[in-house]
Amino acid sequence: MIVVMEKKATARQIGAVITKIQSQGCQAHISEGTEKTIIGVMGNGPAIDKSKLRILEGVEDVIPILKPFKLASREFKSEQTVVAVNGVKIGGKKIAVIAGPCAVESYEQMLAAARAAKANGAALMRGGAFKPRTSPYSFQGKGKEGLEILAQVKKEVGLPIVTEVISPEDVGLVAQYVDILQIGARNIQNFALLEEVGKCDKPALLKRGMMSTIEELLMSAEYILSNGNRNVILCERGIRTFEKSTRNTPDLAAIPVIKKLSHLPVIFDPSHSTGKRDLIIPMSAAALACGADGIIVEIHPAPEDALCDGEQSLTFDIFSDMMKSLSRIASAVGRNL
Ligand code: PEP
Ligand code: MN
Repeated sequence: MIVVMEKKATARQIGAVITKIQSQGCQAHISEGTEKTIIGVMGNGPAIDKSKLRILEGVEDVIPILKPFKLASREFKSEQTVVAVNGVKIGGKKIAVIAGPCAVESYEQMLAAARAAKANGAALMRGGAFKPRTSPYSFQGKGKEGLEILAQVKKEVGLPIVTEVISPEDVGLVAQYVDILQIGARNIQNFALLEEVGKCDKPALLKRGMMSTIEELLMSAEYILSNGNRNVILCERGIRTFEKSTRNTPDLAAIPVIKKLSHLPVIFDPSHSTGKRDLIIPMSAAALACGADGIIVEIHPAPEDALCDGEQSLTFDIFSDMMKSLSRIASAVGRNL
């Protein structure tokens, strides 16, 4: 449930509500809006008697949140969350593009991709150091060496880094090197990992699982939020259906659906959702048209030689065309790239 404080509630009154919530064995999560402060009451013990909170000074109302996700919900926070990282904002008017190879293969490859990303207007770069591969015989990523390459490339090019972390034990290490921690589709219900990222001070990029419902995605976000990390970005990356023409089926309706249910920014991954280079531009354009706050896309200096996901990676020339067409779509929907 949420406690809505009166507009004129004082810090002392807010403090008294928090103390009451905690004395009943629950946690209090604060959302300070421009108008009012809202306090989320969370806990897995017995529910607090609503009337005990309703009578406290400065309390306007106590409302149950009926959805299973709470901190991720629009009821808890009606204003859009904007995640800021190194001066880049995700969730604001400007569309954030994250571009880079599927996997970090070498310093030269990552540097070339980061330069192309920046030259064409991407705000962040991506590159996997720890790769969650379906086959144990596929390239698993360069691990710590990959993180070091990313950090060197960042020094050179200046774009913030997004990279995946696949195990809870690696969260501390990865967080030392990068700006946004990605949780991949295959790990969306790795609750130990979600909790560890929730305790971390770096923003999280949470990808929808190929077999997750929107509600399950929001419940996974809740694990991160409830552990203290409020900077969560959601990503639609396609779901598994009976259709075989694409690697996954891009569920574009998920974007406006999530926007209605949640205040968290939502980005779209055209690469993993389609698996096909020629579908990247049209699907990204459609995602922006239906409200995505950003795009995460794979680019590679020589896709034919890529160690991972070459068939869906864009050449730099196609990426440049993509940015031009997305810029037109962005302005058509009142945003900019
Ligand atoms: C990735 O972005 O590198 C990736 C593996 O994507 P997903 O987790 O969506 O499959
Ligand atoms: Mn990939």
